[in-house]
Parts: sequence; structure tokens; C-alpha cells
Amino acid sequence: MGNATSSHAETKTLAPTLVSRLTRHVVSASGDTTTTTAPFTGKPLAELPVSSASDVAEAFERAREAQRSWAAMSPRDRVAPFLRFHDIVLDRQSEILDIIQWETGKARRHAFEEVYDAAAGTLYYARQAPRLLRRRRSIGAVPGATRTYAHHQPKGAVTVITPWNYPIALPVGDAVPALLAGNAVVAKPDTQTALSALWAIDVAVEAGLPEGLWLPVLGEPAEIGDPLIDGADYVAFTGSSAVGAKIAQRAAGRLIGCSAELGGKNPMIVCEDADLDRTVEGAVRACFSNAGQLCISMERVYVHDAVYDAFTEKFAAAVRDMELNSALDFSADMGSLTYQRQLDRVSAHVDDARQKGATVVAGGRPRPEIGPLFYEPTVLADVEPTMRACADETFGPVVSLYRFSDENEAVERANATDYGLNASIWTRDVNRGRRLAERVRAGTVNINEGYGAAWASYGAPMGGMKRSGLGRRHGAEGLLRYTEAQTVASQHYVGLGGPPGMDGETLARTMTLGARLMKRFRIR
Ligand code: NAD
Repeated sequence: MGNATSSHAETKTLAPTLVSRLTRHVVSASGDTTTTTAPFTGKPLAELPVSSASDVAEAFERAREAQRSWAAMSPRDRVAPFLRFHDIVLDRQSEILDIIQWETGKARRHAFEEVYDAAAGTLYYARQAPRLLRRRRSIGAVPGATRTYAHHQPKGAVTVITPWNYPIALPVGDAVPALLAGNAVVAKPDTQTALSALWAIDVAVEAGLPEGLWLPVLGEPAEIGDPLIDGADYVAFTGSSAVGAKIAQRAAGRLIGCSAELGGKNPMIVCEDADLDRTVEGAVRACFSNAGQLCISMERVYVHDAVYDAFTEKFAAAVRDMELNSALDFSADMGSLTYQRQLDRVSAHVDDARQKGATVVAGGRPRPEIGPLFYEPTVLADVEPTMRACADETFGPVVSLYRFSDENEAVERANATDYGLNASIWTRDVNRGRRLAERVRAGTVNINEGYGAAWASYGAPMGGMKRSGLGRRHGAEGLLRYTEAQTVASQHYVGLGGPPGMDGETLARTMTLGARLMKRFRIR
């Protein structure tokens, strides 16, 4: 495992002209900067501007100004820049793939997944937003005499806060529907991976999105965290459950809405009738995409007794075969971790499990000779509840295998967690898979796939139950969360007080008769 091919990242750097083209978008007046580090090499990567609380206030002011004329346009007229954005992202993918690899240390194949996602998710909303935002007529107070419709006003200025693990997919995925719904966006990407988000903003402006509508700020949560909530009309947050709860509390204090896409400890169930070769291929992707730094990746695999040994053998062989390297091409199966704190956490979970008696079936070691933050894809067995890897989110390339003997037990154990983000079920009988899926408490369940099938079904909602989140992205929900529904009703022919001169008792009798007739003829 992990042949260290020549580390191309050692011999290349990010072009300074590219960095300055991207950082000019950041709202930052002070001239203060911070320097990021390349995970592949441990060397300085880019110097980025830092925003203060007053820069955040300035960003909201500019965003609100730009939003006024944007909101006055019809949804159909807002679409064109996003269709062009889709094309530019695909055309210039090699530029953004390099940036993502530099900032995160992930393998190019995993960077490609999110570049593809940024384009495809944008296209979904560009095509669907006019339909989803259409006026909807509804039966009025007095059918025929009251004409009623509901429509959607934009919230105004939306804050989008995103983490470092999917640095283009998440900022784009949350900002684009907000913009198409007529809002402006103030974006706070994680500083380590800000260039990827800034690249997306740069492309959107090039594609014709009016300046000032999608404004980035960068900085420490202690300085700009609260101002980002206090200035917004809605907050879309993606990150850890602990921070999500804080943000939800602050948003609640202001009576503004928020969505929170949070952590997971996602279960995979392998039934005795699963196609094992397909399952193993899927499990490798499901557990080790982006080195497991993926909120919807699998960290617990429950395997039926009848196939446990065969699955374990094939899975361990496939994992040992994975190529780890830091090349800026498609040769790696898995890349580096992004932060030292991730490496520390992964090492701590594996060491703790090993010390308490777990079996390391594959992997289990850091690989500093490939890059400072590389860790082997790791498979554990005999993991007990006293071990951290059992219930805490590792958010790294570590998965635990467990046996089960009947499917009720599998569902019960899959649900025995505070999280409820994603789950995966493997069986040749899809109807059985669906029956099991509906008993699992998770926002998405993938059958015969780990995460991609549900995630990339953009028309269907995506999000977490329990401590995994609040609200949904994707689908109608992912767009309408950024709007206020408004009902407009007009009264025609007769007033609600009845015809002139009708006394109260007659009015009550007439209305009672009307209520009965409406029920009888199913008008209501
Ligand atoms: P984090 O919560 O520490 O940080 C996420 C973002 O929030 C960063 O931009 C950070 O700077 C910002 N932030 C932190 N404290 C803040 C505050 N008080 N106010 C405003 N902003 C604040 O999360 P992380 O460790 O960077 O990311 C990993 C976590 O994100 C994991 O738990 C993972 O499961 C989760 N995640 C969830 C999804 C999803 O869609 N459900 C997607 C990706 C990651």
C-alpha cells in the first residue's frame, strides 16, 4: 500500500498572479493577512487577506445594495450567468483541480468529484429555479370570490459558512440556490481552502453575475463569527455539530432561519445476498473518498455473519492495494489529510482502539515519507463501545467492521448513534433494501452505493436527522429555505361580511350551509 511515487507537488507552486486575481474579491480593508500551508508539503502556500468585524458590516451593506436590483429581476432573467458558470467550471477544470489539491491535499479523483458537483448542482438549480419559484394559486376564503396565490420573496442577505473538506462543492452548492432565489450572499469559507471558493466567485463574476452579490470574507470565527450571524437574514452553515448548535442558537435569538449540515457517523449494512465484489469497490469509495474527510462517508460497516469473513478478506486486500501519493494527476486512490489536527485525531482514534484490544485489519500508520499529513486507509475489527472510534466521528480514513446475524439487529445498531446523516445498504434485493432504508434514521440512504447516488440526486433533499443537522439542501427545500412565502389574496364581488344589509344570524346560517356544501362537493 501507498507506494510514494515522485511527489509532483514538491516541484510546483501556485502562481502568485492567480492568488492575487482571486484574493481581490475578499472584503478586507485593513491589509492584514494570513498564510496558509500546503498539506502535501507542509510549506507555505498562499498569503490571504483577513477581514475584520467592520469588513463584515461593509460586506452586508454592499450585498444589500446589489441585492435590490437583483431581486427586482424575474427568476428566469437571473439564470444566464449560472448556465455560463457551469460551462466555465467544466472547461477550466484543470486550474481548479490544482487549487483544490494544493489547499486540501486530496487526490485529484476526489477533487474532480466536487468540481463536477459544483457544475451539476448549479445546472440543476439554473434549470429548476424559475419553476420552483413560480406563483402557486390556492383556493380562496370564499371560492370564486377570493383569489389567492402564494409566491416567494428572497430573504435578502444570506450568510453561507463552509468548512475545508469540500472547498468548492459546498460554497457553490449553498450560494447558487440563494442567489437564484434573488438573495445576495456573504460567504465565509474556511481560510485554509478559501482560494477554491474565491475561484468560484471569480468565475461567477466572469460569467456575468453582478459584482457585489456574492461577497467573500475571511477570518477567525472569534472575530467575524457573530457579525456574520448578526448581519444576515438567513444563515446556511456546514460544519461540526458543536458549532452548528452555537450558530442555530444565535440565529434563534434574532428570529432568523438557519440550516445546519453537520457531522455523521454513518453506517453501512452489508446483507448476506450482497454482490461482494461490487460492495467492496463501493466500500472503498464510501470509506476513503477524500481520505474519509467527508461528512457522508462510512465509518461503521455491519456485515452479515454469512459473508463477514469473505467480505473482510476482499475489502482488506483492496484497501492494502490503494495508491497514496501527492501527485497533481489522477494516479492516487487517496491523498493526504488536510490539517495536522485531523492527523492527530485519526492517530488518536486508531491508537486508542489498538490499545484497548481492537484488531487492525489493514493500514493503521501515518506515512510521513509520502507527505507530512498522510495516513493509511485503515480497517478495524473488534471495536468496542469504550473505544473512541466506535461512536465519535473520526472524519478520517478509518472504518470499523462489525458482524450481525439478523437484519433487525443491523437496523437497530445502525440507528444507535446521536447522528443521522447518511447510510448505505448493500443487497441484491432492492425492495428489501428500500424496506430497511425506511427504518434507518438518516437523511439519506444509498442502496448499493455509499453516498454519491443520493447526494447527486439534486432534485431530492439532502441533510441530517438528530445531531447531523437542521433543514435540507438540494431539491425544492434547498432553494425555498432562502425565501419568505408571501400570500396575496384579493376579494371580488362580495365582501367577507356578506351582502349589504345581511344580519349576523343569516350570515352565520349561510356560511354554515356553505361549509357543508364545500365538504359535500369536495371543494375543501
Ligand atoms: P467547524 O464547525 O469547526 O467549522 C466549519 C466552518 O465554520 C469554518 O468555516 C469555520 O471557520 C466556521 N466557524 C467555526 N466556528 C464558528 C462560529 N462560532 N461562528 C461562525 N463560523 C464559525 O467544522 P470543521 O471541523 O472545519 O469541519 C468538519 C465538520 O464538518 C465535520 O464534523 C463534518 O462532518 C462536517 N461537515 C458536514 C457536511 C454536511 O453536509 N453535513 C459537509 C461537510 C462537513
